[in-house]
Amino acid sequence: MAGACLRYAVMEVLGFGRLITPEAQAVMAEGSARHRRFQTWLLTEADVIAVEAPLVSESWQVSGRVDAVVRLNGEPVAIEYKTAGPERFQAMLASGRPLAEHWAQLMCYLATGAYRRGCLVVEERDSGRRLQWAAYPDPAWTAWLGQRLEAVRRYQAAHRLPSREVSRGCLTCDRWQRCFRSEAERAAAVEAHPDWEPDPPLPALPSQPSPPAWVHSARTQEEGGPA
Ligand code: SF4
Repeated sequence: MAGACLRYAVMEVLGFGRLITPEAQAVMAEGSARHRRFQTWLLTEADVIAVEAPLVSESWQVSGRVDAVVRLNGEPVAIEYKTAGPERFQAMLASGRPLAEHWAQLMCYLATGAYRRGCLVVEERDSGRRLQWAAYPDPAWTAWLGQRLEAVRRYQAAHRLPSREVSRGCLTCDRWQRCFRSEAERAAAVEAHPDWEPDPPLPALPSQPSPPAWVHSARTQEEGGPA
């Protein structure tokens, strides 16, 4: 919810239904299987403290599960794992930037949990290639997330939906029919406004991926062991 379109997030807390197509269902099933494989892989490649670590913030009224927490130089690192189709993965590869929605989720964990380091791992579904970005608590993201969640609660209390935040994300949104009368109307809106421009504007995203500091091979190098 942290990095979602505001209207979508309000629908979520108000309990609106979702339209899950068979294609979306297949993608979700594959994503879950990849998630499990990644967590199993981590157990051999990193110093894992926990998988699916629960996280609750009473002040922000949010809860979630951190995909994994690993130890690096004695310090816990929160790992968020995502999968992406070739088109989105290629866009991240070309720009060096993660998707805002993925980054926002990890920044929410860093803002609400006791983590001073995090890492976002994005895997391409077709090839299994990965990109990753190191993360640290960022006051600009904490402020942005706080404002967005406050807005969600305001609309929830008023039982009202905010305006649409049109972007390419509408093309895969499973609640799009609450926003557009037809696929043609949606396509035209997205063509006119492909980029997500939330209010307040997004804080800065990292501009390039980071090396995998938390896997064993990198850890032994950091500790002076063999490469
Ligand atoms: S269709 Fe677009 S504007 Fe509507 S809820 Fe989904 S992402 Fe938001």
